[in-house]
Parts: sequence; structure tokens; C-alpha cells
Amino acid sequence: MDPAKRASLGARSEVRDDGQLEEQVKDWLRYGEDLGLGPFYRDRAPLHAIAESAAAPVATQTLATSSGISTAFPAAMAAAAASRAPASSINVAASASQKSTASIILPASAPSLFESIERIAGDTLPRIREDIGDCTRCKLHKGRTKIVFGTGNPNADLMFVGEGPGRDEDLSGEPFVGRAGKLLTDMIKAMGLQREDVYIANVVKCRPPENRLPEKDEITMCSPYLMRQIDTIKPKVICTLGSCSAQTLLQTAQGISKLRGEWFDFRGTKLMPTYHPAYLLRNPAAKPEVWRDLQKVMAVLGLQPKKR
Ligand code: URA
Repeated sequence: MDPAKRASLGARSEVRDDGQLEEQVKDWLRYGEDLGLGPFYRDRAPLHAIAESAAAPVATQTLATSSGISTAFPAAMAAAAASRAPASSINVAASASQKSTASIILPASAPSLFESIERIAGDTLPRIREDIGDCTRCKLHKGRTKIVFGTGNPNADLMFVGEGPGRDEDLSGEPFVGRAGKLLTDMIKAMGLQREDVYIANVVKCRPPENRLPEKDEITMCSPYLMRQIDTIKPKVICTLGSCSAQTLLQTAQGISKLRGEWFDFRGTKLMPTYHPAYLLRNPAAKPEVWRDLQKVMAVLGLQPKKR
């Protein structure tokens, strides 16, 4: 790579040579193909109202972030984010001398998968629920008792995203009400909030059998409703719980132990991946790491920890 370009991209380890970048972009595209998302979103009929079209893809971009937000995702997503985010939250044009920088180069014709999802003007949570209906779009419907849509404050600043309902949630229709849910509730309280202050949803809305991980086809069918929930609620921060939700929203195969504790950008919203409370029940030693992640979220939201 020529020295001037390298200097403009910064000297961090994210700077890759052109061959590696090409491989990285190909990986993203392969991942999308694996998920089968492209055709789904392309073929999806407009639902109700005028859909806002996503920002045009950018051919080559160096992204500098204002708060150390990691940029390990396609730049088209960052471009869309920049077009939607308040100027204070993400500063794409920030000077490289003050900010951490990462290099992002993408083909002009390759918007990210989630960027290509239309945003639906005037969308509402009841409308999304209505569109889900008595869903039979994927095989999970066969074993479910109740669809677990999501719950909480529709204007929440903070949204938690889990993986999928477990047994208790399947029976009650509410996310995170079992043992892991009780721990999540404690985590929320430790942040100085009540459960009703935040919004809680999952990547898939029906229980996977035996609590297995949701499969690609299930995620493909269900995740558009999660995207619409996020677009409607417009939280200031999304906190993903466990690998499934982080990998789905960030379109990465990277493991949760690598992702957690880092800020990412999801369509203009700050996203903090952390471990799933169910993992914490099995590995309580990881609780301090999660608390550190939550403290980063609290700092952004101006929250004080609950007084003991
Ligand atoms: N685990 C999840 O990921 N979501 C729930 O709703 C419950 C347990």
C-alpha cells in the first residue's frame, strides 16, 4: 500500500493490505449469502407505508470515530449510520489525529445487508406485532407456545437483545423471565434502572427446541422484525447479550469474547456486546467483565449505579 494512503488510514493493526481487505469484504458477502439475507430483503414487498431508502453506498472510506467505536463492519453501514445519527454520536469526518481510525474499503456496489433493509416511515411496535401475526414463516412455530415479541419502554434509551425465548419465556410470552432473566433484571437494577425503563427483545421470537441456538434460516426470517423494533424504538444504546445477537446485528462470525466490551455501530446506534446472563449463571467469574461493559453503557447514558 502506498505510504500516503497508509498514513491516512492510520497505523493501527486494523490496517490491512489490499489483498486482506478484499478477503474481508468477500467474507462479509459470503456470510450474507449463507444467511440468505440478500434475496429476502430484495424481494420483500413494502409493508405499509413509504419506505425510506437507505443511504447510497460509498466507494472507499476511512472512518474515524468519536468514542473509540470499533468499525469492524462494512463501511456502507457506517455511511447509513452517519446519515441517520445525530452529529454528536458518530463523527465520521473527525480528524484522524484526534481519533482512533480504522480503514474501510468497500466496493461501490456492495451495501451492507442490513443497510439495504428499508426503514419504514411511521412504523410502530403494534404494527410490527401485527405483521408477525400468528407466524409460520420458519420451523420454530411448530414447537412454540407463545410468540415472544419483546417488552418494555417503547421509548427506551437502552435496548437489550437476547437470542431467543427459553421455556419460561415460551410459556409466558415475555422475554427474559427465567433464571437468566432474573439475572438480567438484577443487572438492569444495578445500572440504576428498572426493567420497565428498558426494552428487551430477542433475535428470534419463538423458542428453539431444547434451547438450541437459532439457525440461520430462522434468523433470516425473524431478524427483520428485530430491525424494525430497533428502528421504531430508536434506543441510544443497544446491548446485545451473547454471541447470537451480536453476530446477527454486526454481521460477523467473530466470537463474543472478542466482541464484548467494545463499542460498535449499528445503523447509527451505539452497540455494546456483552455476555449472555445464561453464560454468567454457568460462569459467575465472568460477571466483573459484564459489569465493566455495563458501566461503559451507563457512562454513555449518564446513569449512576444503584446505591446499595
Ligand atoms: N435467553 C434469551 O436469549 N432470551 C430470552 O428471552 C430468555 C433467555
